[in-house]
Amino acid sequence: MTVLVLGGAGYIGSHAVDQLVEKGYDVAVVDNLVTGHRQAVHPKARFYEGDIRDKSFLQSVFAKEKVEGILHFAAFSLVGESVEKPLKYFNNNIYGMQVLLEVMEEYGVKNIVFSSTAATYGEPEETPITETTPQKPTNPYGESKLTMEKMMKWCHEAYGMNFVALRYFNVAGAKENSSIGEDHDPETHLVPIILQVALGQRDSLKIFGTDYPTPDGTCIRDYVQVVDLIAAHILALEYLKNGGESTAFNLGSNTGYSVKEMLEAARKVTGKVIPAEVAPRRAGDPSILVASADKAKAILGWQPQHTDVEDIIQTAWNWHVSHPKGYNDKK
Ligand code: UDP
Repeated sequence: MTVLVLGGAGYIGSHAVDQLVEKGYDVAVVDNLVTGHRQAVHPKARFYEGDIRDKSFLQSVFAKEKVEGILHFAAFSLVGESVEKPLKYFNNNIYGMQVLLEVMEEYGVKNIVFSSTAATYGEPEETPITETTPQKPTNPYGESKLTMEKMMKWCHEAYGMNFVALRYFNVAGAKENSSIGEDHDPETHLVPIILQVALGQRDSLKIFGTDYPTPDGTCIRDYVQVVDLIAAHILALEYLKNGGESTAFNLGSNTGYSVKEMLEAARKVTGKVIPAEVAPRRAGDPSILVASADKAKAILGWQPQHTDVEDIIQTAWNWHVSHPKGYNDKK
């Protein structure tokens, strides 16, 4: 039986494929390589290049593979871009989920572990955020992921499909041996941008807003290491295979770090000056997003190994130093 990883050539998906293969799973990957990298896919996984919205393509994959469960990472994920181009997000994310659920139904595939996001909560009224905190997204990206969660819920009720929605907070870092890592073009995320400044690839970090209602005025986020994040996906897959009920889990560290604290931590890890300058707020950024991940720990038995943010940054730094141009495979 095969685990099908959709979006398995992307940053997070490639870490999933790698960990599944290392744990002895039979793995097939679908990716359209719009943002993913072919080299990021573990050579032991079967690779199908194509788009999940292409129904006949997806059917052909399901016809070839005996799929026991799906990990679904294939989506666009940039908050700012989603505000500018909501239809792009609705088409890829929501319509992609529509086609996927149709094909799962057709082939009788029951289990799906889904990449959801803290962005489904919007500007939360409480901290830390639990899974019962109201979901009120403030951007089309969060809205698309919330809609995808709801689609799975209704298909669960109608067709007996089982799902786990994993609501990620801020994912960072790379596999410890640096064989895979984060390579976005353009890069928009804090940790890789700070490290690109440390490498001299950018002049300075722009700190987006220093007037937030936080102790140092910069936004607070909860960082989770990508290898730990993926461990939760495999636990969630096994949970579903063992008859666990369909539900959502937050994945974070229960600890928040401000942008300035992340910068300081990165200066310590890299030993570099890392120049920074104050810039205006970025549209759509909530001031504080910190997870309670107690439910994932209690029910899935999730135990993140990288609880120190310097340790997380260190794994990202090792990747950036060893791959200063990322995968360098411009298609
Ligand atoms: N951020 C920043 N400068 C940058 C990129 C990000 O100050 O060049 C801030 C951003 O405003 C947010 C935090 O860093 O408060 C994390 O942003 P990121 O894009 O990494 O993740 P998000 O929280 O949007 O998912």
